[in-house]
Formats: sequence, C-alpha cells, structure tokens
Amino acid sequence: MNGAWVPAGDRELFDRQSPAHGVPVTRVPKCTVEDLDAAVDAARRAFDDRRWSGLNGQARAAVLLRTGALIRERADEIAYFETLENGKPISQARAEVLGCADMFEYASGLARSLHGDSFNNLGDGLFGLVTREPVGVVGLITPWNFPFLILCERVPYILASGCTIVAKPSEVTSATTLILAEILSDAGLPDGCMNVVTGAGSSIGQALIEHPRVDMLSFTGSTAVGRRVVEAAGKSNFKKLGLELGGKNPQIVFADADLEDAADGVAFGIGFNTGQCCVSGSRLIVERSVADDFARMVQAKFDKVRVGDPLDEATQIGAITTEAQNATIMSYIERGQAEGARLICGGAQLDMGRGQFIVPTLFGDVTRDMSIAREEIFGPVLTIMPFDTIEEAIEIANDTDYGLAASVWTKNIDKALTVTRQVQAGRFWVNTTLAGGPELPLGGFRQSGWGREAGIYGVEEYTQVKSVHIEIGKRDHWVK
Ligand code: NDP
Repeated sequence: MNGAWVPAGDRELFDRQSPAHGVPVTRVPKCTVEDLDAAVDAARRAFDDRRWSGLNGQARAAVLLRTGALIRERADEIAYFETLENGKPISQARAEVLGCADMFEYASGLARSLHGDSFNNLGDGLFGLVTREPVGVVGLITPWNFPFLILCERVPYILASGCTIVAKPSEVTSATTLILAEILSDAGLPDGCMNVVTGAGSSIGQALIEHPRVDMLSFTGSTAVGRRVVEAAGKSNFKKLGLELGGKNPQIVFADADLEDAADGVAFGIGFNTGQCCVSGSRLIVERSVADDFARMVQAKFDKVRVGDPLDEATQIGAITTEAQNATIMSYIERGQAEGARLICGGAQLDMGRGQFIVPTLFGDVTRDMSIAREEIFGPVLTIMPFDTIEEAIEIANDTDYGLAASVWTKNIDKALTVTRQVQAGRFWVNTTLAGGPELPLGGFRQSGWGREAGIYGVEEYTQVKSVHIEIGKRDHWVK
C-alpha cells in the first residue's frame, strides 16, 4: 500500500492450502474497511497530484518495460505460487507468467501511442480536439482461476492510460498480486499507483465496489457478483464498469473439419486449466454424420491426457482450485445423469491420496434445457449435441444467455465465416481454440460482460474522451 508493505499486525489471517497437496502455502491478512480507505486514499492522491498521469508516455513506458523484465527474472517464483495456490500445472503456470511479461512489454508501446483526435473542418473560427484522459482510481477485482494472467491482462493497460489502482485478488490466490505490486515498485512506479488489499470478496470486495472515491471498477468473476457490482455502482457514485463474467462457450465441429485436429482442440478447450476458464469450450456441437465417431475421438484424448500432481512437469490437468468448486462440479455431474444425459466417460474424482482432482468428463444425449447444457459448470465437463444444418448449429450456439467465446472447426471458408459472423461471442477461434496474445481484445457479448480488456481497446477502456473547442480569432458576440 502506497509503495510499502504494511505489517499484518493483529489483523485476522487467512491460510491458503495447496489444493493439490493439502499443505499450507500462504497466509494473508484479512484487510479491514479502514485498510481499504487508506488504499483508496493513496491511489486517489497519486492520481490527483498527477505523479503518474502527468509523466510523459516515454517515462510511463519505461516503468512498464522494466516490469516486464522483472517478471521474466522472477518467473519461476511466480509460477510456483500460481501452481501452489491455484493447482494448475507448473508448465502451464510458467508459460502464463511469461505471457504476462509480454503484456507489460506490449502495453508500454500503448503508453506512448495513446492519442486523441483533431477536427479541422469546423470552419476557420473554430478548431476541435478530442483528448483521451485517464478515468482515475480503478478498483480491480480478480478471480482465482488465472490469478496472475487476468491481473496482467488489466494492470499494464490501466497504468498505460495513466490511472492508479486498488486491487483485490481472490482470497484464495493473493500471493502473485502482492508480488506484482512489489515488482512494480521495484520497476519505479511511483508510490500509491498500485495498492493491494487482501481479504474476502463478501467483505472487502463488496466495500471496494461500493466505494464512492473509486472512479472505475474492473471485475472478473461470476455473473451473480457482476450483478452486485452493477447495483453497487448505481447506489454509490455511478462508477464506470468493466465486467468480464461467465461463459457457456460453443465449439462447432463440421464433418469436413480435420477431425483429428478438432478432437485435440476440443479436448484442450475444456481440459485446459481443468475447465475453470471463462472461455472454456464447454458445449460441443457436432454435425450428426460424424457425431458418434467424433465423441469416440474426444474420449480417446481424454483417456490419454495426464491428470495429476501439478508440480510434475508432465501434468496437463491439475487440481480443482477450491473444495467448493470441486463440490459444484461433482453436483453438476450428478445432476446431468439425473436429468437423463448419458455419461460417455469420466464423471469421477481421481484419488491421489490428497487434494481434489476430477477426470475429464463427456456427456451425450444432452438436450438444450438440461442444466449441464445451460449453466457455467467451470470444470472439465463437456456436453455433446448433434446438428443437421448450419442454421441449426448457429441456433444451438446462440441459445444461451452468455456470449463470451466460440470456436468453429471446418475446412470450408463459407461455413467458417457464416458461423463467425452469426454466433454471438466476443472472442472467436477458427480451427483453433484458446489462442491469443496482448494485441487482441477480450470481453463478452450479452450477459458475459461489458467493455474490453487488452489491445488498444483495453487501454482506451480506462480513458474517457474530452471534446475541446478552440476559438480562433475574435468571437462573434452574443450581445450586440
Ligand atoms: P466470484 O464471482 O464470487 O469471485 C470472483 C471475485 O469476486 C473474487 O475476487 C471474489 O473474492 C470477489 N467477490 C466475491 N463476492 C464479492 C462481492 N460481494 N463484492 C465484490 N467482490 C466479490 O466467483 P466464485 O469464486 O464464487 O466462483 C463461482 C463461479 O463464478 C464459478 O463457478 C464460475 O462459474 C464463475 N467464475 C467465473 C470467472 C471468470 O473468469 N469469468 C472467474 C471465477 C469464477 P473472494 O474469492 O475473495 O471471495
């Protein structure tokens, strides 16, 4: 907070156990509302006195570039904390951390290139400028599924815009957010520009979304809490909002696709991060003529994928992050069977002697009204539904309240483009899935969220535009 560590003192502490090993990993204080006020004060002062937004783009870019370099230096340490708190495979964690360094490096360019517009067509007496101004103090609430990646899809862009930050990570995955604050300080970010409060969402998170001196709130998490964020903004100061919420993302496979490629992509799309991923491809929609064969191909991939200790370099699917999430996923697996879906494979916990693991699960005979076909499970559970025509495939894909992401697998350019244009989703993949980089924006249609993160769109999200009208010469007087 304000560029320095604050001793936990007599604050209540939260102990985090590794979900894969059941051993204590980290201990963080439950910050109080007074702590939050102090953090907002620090961010407020840092913004209002222009110690950051008043710097030129080159100076801001230099801090972001140094941050990227320091993340690379500390990549192993950060990756271990990610794996131990979240349960994700260490090889995946390491790759994510290096991707995060890239986010900072990319955003450093945006700090220099962000600009407004000018209007030279208002007549000889008037000249118009549009400037982009940072919104102010940004409250940043991040979830436990990608603690460092989701943080770094936002922080560099927020800082590139000139805003300051109060971040609240999920209570169960706080370590790497605290490490990033330390790195930013080491990289030369002025005090007060990045502050972190740890603690539970229901207390300190709720206080942050209601805080009247926070100008914008960026929230990533469940649709249910997203609704609270909207209510709190209305009841407090109408803060600007960025929301990235849930998804129930379709993967459409046509018979003419490279089916080997598609089966591997579909397995990756639901198995990556144990399916605890807002963009997981959880609804498989397959052309009927190949549906049974394709289900067997996906099952073969599921049988071979390596589930186990996330500290093992060979592991591809690690532990479920929380006991509550584990129980939620297992309850959906039971509900799917109770509602009449056919369990093709999986559906069970993997007994590793400790920790919580669920093997990839595939359901057939799924109808659109079933809860496993409609609700975000956030686990390695895939449903399969057949289609006969492209119109039907699009209709099934759009039959959801969400609109976060979608994939289409086909070798036919007309089908690929028709599906891409007509399915409602903020992120689309053709013959691949979950690919991406800092250049392309993230965000959802419909109830999957508001606004965009990353890319040039991501930095613009944290700005507001100001129209400036400049009179040239003498005004034509109103009172003659
Ligand atoms: P939440 O939406 O509860 O958590 C996301 C973040 O919001 C966490 O930092 C959490 O803090 C915080 N939070 C919780 N309650 C409040 C509140 N009242 N005010 C402000 N912040 C709050 O998700 P869950 O962890 O409960 O997961 C439930 C479901 O949400 C999952 O099964 C999944 O479907 C979905 N989800 C979607 C994500 C996405 O990327 N789109 C990410 C995570 C979950 P804390 O963890 O400390 O309580």
